Amino acid sequence: MVKPRLILVLGDQLCAEISSLRIAEKERDVVIMAEVMAEATYVSHHPQKIALVLAAMRKFAVALREDGWTVAYSKLDDEANTGSIPGEIVRHASEFEADEIIATTPGEWRLIAALNDLPLVVRQLPDDRFVTSPKEFANWAEGRKELRMEWFYRQVRRKTGLLMEGNAPAGGKWNYDSQNRKPVPEDARPPKPPSFQPDAVVGDVLDRVEDRFAEHFGELYPFKFATDREQALEVLDHFITHTLARFGDYQDAMVAGEPWLWHAVISPYLNIGLLQPMEVCRRAEEAWRAGVAPLNAVEGLIRQIIGWREYVRGIYFFEGPDYTSRNALDHSRPLPAFFWGDETHMSCVSEVVGQTRNHAYAHHIQRLMITGNFALLAGLDPRAVHHWYLSVYVDAFEWVEAPNTIGMSQYADGGVVASKPYVSSGNYISKMSDYCTGCHYDVRAKTGARACPFNLLYWHFIERNRDRFQHNPRMAVIYRGWDKRDAGQRKAVLGDATDWLGRLDSGETV
Ligand SMILES: Cc1cc2nc3c(=O)[nH]c(=O)nc-3n(C[C@H](O)[C@H](O)[C@H](O)COP(=O)(O)OP(=O)(O)OC[C@H]3O[C@@H](n4cnc5c(N)ncnc54)[C@H](O)[C@@H]3O)c2cc1C
Ligand code: SF4
Repeated sequence: MVKPRLILVLGDQLCAEISSLRIAEKERDVVIMAEVMAEATYVSHHPQKIALVLAAMRKFAVALREDGWTVAYSKLDDEANTGSIPGEIVRHASEFEADEIIATTPGEWRLIAALNDLPLVVRQLPDDRFVTSPKEFANWAEGRKELRMEWFYRQVRRKTGLLMEGNAPAGGKWNYDSQNRKPVPEDARPPKPPSFQPDAVVGDVLDRVEDRFAEHFGELYPFKFATDREQALEVLDHFITHTLARFGDYQDAMVAGEPWLWHAVISPYLNIGLLQPMEVCRRAEEAWRAGVAPLNAVEGLIRQIIGWREYVRGIYFFEGPDYTSRNALDHSRPLPAFFWGDETHMSCVSEVVGQTRNHAYAHHIQRLMITGNFALLAGLDPRAVHHWYLSVYVDAFEWVEAPNTIGMSQYADGGVVASKPYVSSGNYISKMSDYCTGCHYDVRAKTGARACPFNLLYWHFIERNRDRFQHNPRMAVIYRGWDKRDAGQRKAVLGDATDWLGRLDSGETV
C-alpha cells in the first residue's frame, strides 16, 4: 500500500490553491492542521488575533473535508496535543505511518528552521500566493546600492500590467502620493467596515480564547472580523464600493475615535490567505476603469499591495534570519508601560494604544508616526518594539511586521528600507490629526513643562544622531536649521528632553 503523506497547512495558509494542497492527492494524503500553544504564545498575541486565526482554521478545515480531503485537525484542548507544530507533525506521522511531509514554506525563519530540523523528509514548496518570489526580489536587489521600494514597485507594475497603458503608467505618473495627504474635513463621515456576528464556530473559539489567553494585552470582545473567504470577500466588496474612492485622499489622516477611516482593513485576510493580492488589485483597477474611484486612490492602494507588501516580504527573506536583531542606532530603552495600556498624558499615543487594545488594529500612519515615531525618538530597544508590533495587531506576521518595524519605523537596519528615519515633531501630528486638541501637552510649545514631548525628543534624536545623519542629503537642511538657532534655545530644548526622558525612565506618568 502507498503510504500517505502529511500535508501541513498553517494558520496563515488558508487558501484552497496553496502550493502544498496543489500537489497533494485527496485519496492518498492527510492534511494536518494544528492549533498549538507554542504559536499562540511565542509572543503574547492579541486575543482577537488568536481568535481570528483559530476560527478561520476551523472553518477552512470544514471546507476541506466537504471537498473530500482527510483532515487531521488538532484543537488546542485536545489531550494528545503536543503544543507545537513540530510535535504535532511527528505525532501525526506516527499515527498515519507517514514518512514524508509536504508544506508550503512558512513566512517566518523560526518555523522554516523548525521544519528543517524534523527527523522526517520535509518538502517545503514555494509560497506562490505572492506576486513576486524571494528569488525575484534577490535578483532585483543584487548589486544595487539602495533597495528603494519605488523602483521595485515599478518593476512589479510592469510585470503585472496593473495600471499600465502600454509601457507607460496610467495617467502618466507612477505615483500619486502627493495627492494623498489631506486632513479629514470636520463634516466627513467615514463608512464603517462590515462586521460579523460570531456564529457557532467563532463562538466556541471565543470561549476557548477567553479561558486561555485572558492575560494577553487586548480586548477580545466585541469580535467582528471575517473568518472565512465568503465574509472576507464581503469586506473587499464593501471597500471597493463604499470606501476606495476616498482611500487616497485621507490615507495619512488620523481622527480620534475613528480607527478605520477610509482604510481597507483587509490585511488580516490577505495575510492568512482568505484574500489574494492580485484579486484585490484587479478589483481596484476595475473600479478606476469604471469611474467608481479616482486614480490617486487606486494607484495608492495598488502601490501598498504590489509595492510595499511585496517589497517588505522580499526584504525579510533577502536580509536573512538576523534581521530582527538589528539595532543600528544602538537603542536600548525598555518599552514604557503605556504601550501596554498604562496611563500617558500624550493623547496621540493614548488614542492609538487604546484603539489597538480594543480592535487589534491601527492604520499605517498611526503605527508609523505615533507609536513608531515615539519609539524611535525615545530610543526604545527595537527588538522590544518589534515584539510589541508582532503581538498587538491582528495582521501581524513576522515577514511583514519585521521590515515595517525594524526597517521602516525604527531605522534599526541602518537604512536598508528607509532612506531616512521616519521621525517628526508634534507639528506633523497636529497637521494630520485632531489628537492635539485637549492634550495635556501643548503642541506649539518648544520648551517648558507643557512642551509636546515629540517636539523635545525630535531635536534630542537629531542631535544625538548628528554623526550619522547630518550629511544625509535628505536631512542636511534639518541640521542647518537647527544649528542656526540660538545656542541657549537649543540647550533649553535638549535639557528639557533629557529631563522628560528621565521622568519616563523613573516610571512617572508622562
Ligand atoms: C511599525 C509597523 C508595523 C506594521 N506591521 C504590519 C503587520 O504586522 N502586518 C501587516 O499586514 N502590515 C503591517 N504594517 C503595514 C500597514 O500598517 C498595514 O498593512 C495596514 O495598516 C493594514 O491595514 P489596512 O488593511 O486597513 O491597510 P490599507 O491602508 O487599507 O492598505 C491596503 C493594504 O496594503 C497593504 N499594505 C499597506 N502598507 C503596507 C506596508 N507598509 N507593508 C505591507 N503591506 C502594506 C496591506 O496588505 C493593506 O491591507 C505595519 C506598518 C508599520 C509602520
Ligand atoms: S501635543 Fe504632542 S503629545 Fe499631545 S497629542 Fe499633540 S503631538 Fe501628541
